[in-house]
Amino acid sequence: MAVRRILQIEDPDDKRVLKNRAHAIKQFTPALQALAADMFETMHAANGVGLAAPQIGISQRIAVIWIPPAEEEQPDGTVVEIEPEQNYVLINPEVVKRSDKEEIAQEGCLSLPGRYGDVPRASWVTVDYLDLEGKRQRIRKADGLLGRALQHEIDHLDGVLFTERMRDLSTLKDLREDADQPVEA
Ligand code: ZN
Repeated sequence: MAVRRILQIEDPDDKRVLKNRAHAIKQFTPALQALAADMFETMHAANGVGLAAPQIGISQRIAVIWIPPAEEEQPDGTVVEIEPEQNYVLINPEVVKRSDKEEIAQEGCLSLPGRYGDVPRASWVTVDYLDLEGKRQRIRKADGLLGRALQHEIDHLDGVLFTERMRDLSTLKDLREDADQPVEA
């Protein structure tokens, strides 16, 4: 496995690659499994919750998402895990249904580190995709962080960046100097 370089929106050559629409994947090979493993490693090394192949310069429709475990502090101060982490490898993912209602929340991107903007997204989405074995899977009515990450990553596969979804670019915040940054995908 290897940590790959993440392309940056502010680099003109990188941006050209990020703006391309990625190609559908037709072959489910060991090389594809190795790519997914590299994508998880790259995403974790950058403390992200999602990464799409175009972000490492590969114009193919594959993305990974990691949702951290949900934890809850008990009255005695100990922290217990109430929901396990979730890992997804999404190949040729497609939004097949979305809520009419939308939600605006702060979003960041590993290709624009430290910058966060208010992005409107559907409150929930249902997504069809293929897993690493080429088997069809469905995530129903994903909301919260998963719903947002799914929409962010599928946008990357279409060459759409989160800044293009913002209605008011002046709300883009620069938190590069802050020690405690929100998540990026
Ligand atoms: Zn991103």
